[in-house]
Amino acid sequence: MAESIEAAKELALACGFTQVGELDVDTIRVRTEVRDTCAQNKCRAYGKNWSCPPGCGTLEECEKRIRQYRRGLILQTTGKLEDSLDYEGMEQAAIDHSAHLEDLTKKIRDLYPGCLIIGAGACKRCETCTYPDAPCRFPDKMTFSMEALGMIVSDVCKDNQLPYYYGPNTLTYVGCVFLD
Ligand code: SF4
Repeated sequence: MAESIEAAKELALACGFTQVGELDVDTIRVRTEVRDTCAQNKCRAYGKNWSCPPGCGTLEECEKRIRQYRRGLILQTTGKLEDSLDYEGMEQAAIDHSAHLEDLTKKIRDLYPGCLIIGAGACKRCETCTYPDAPCRFPDKMTFSMEALGMIVSDVCKDNQLPYYYGPNTLTYVGCVFLD
C-alpha cells in the first residue's frame, strides 16, 4: 500500500495542487466550535447544501464518517497575489483549487475506490444544490467541506507537519482526501 499512497500523491501533484502532504486521520480533532461558526452562516452556505450543516449530518455522524479512514492526503493550492487587495488573484486561486479537486475527483477512485474527498467550503458541483428538496445528485462525487466536518484547517496542516502559510502575498486553499 505504501506504493499506492505515493501514486496518489503523484496524481494529486499532476492534478495541479502546489503542495501535497500525507494525512494521518487519527490526528484529526473535530470541534463543536467550528460547527458553531458554520451556524452563524457567514459563508451563506448553512442550510443550503448537502455538504454543509445541517444537511451533512450531526458532528457525531461526521466524526463517524472520518474515523472509517486511517490515511489520506492534504491538498493545497497556493496562489500568488500582487498585494493584499488582489481580489482577482484570490478568486483565481479559489477557481484553480476547485479545478484541481475536480480533476482529482475524476481520477483518484481508480486507485482508492472508497475514498472521501473534502473541499474548501460547500460543494459546488451543481449550479444549484438540491438541498433540502431532493437527494444529492452525485453522492459519489460531492465534496464535504472541512469545516462542516468540524476540522480546523490550520490545525490539520500543523498536526501533519505541512505548512499552511507560504509567505506574504500568497493565499493557500486546502482540501483533503481520505484514502483508506
Ligand atoms: S453534488 Fe450537487 S446536489 Fe450534491 S451536494 Fe454537491 S451541489 Fe449539492
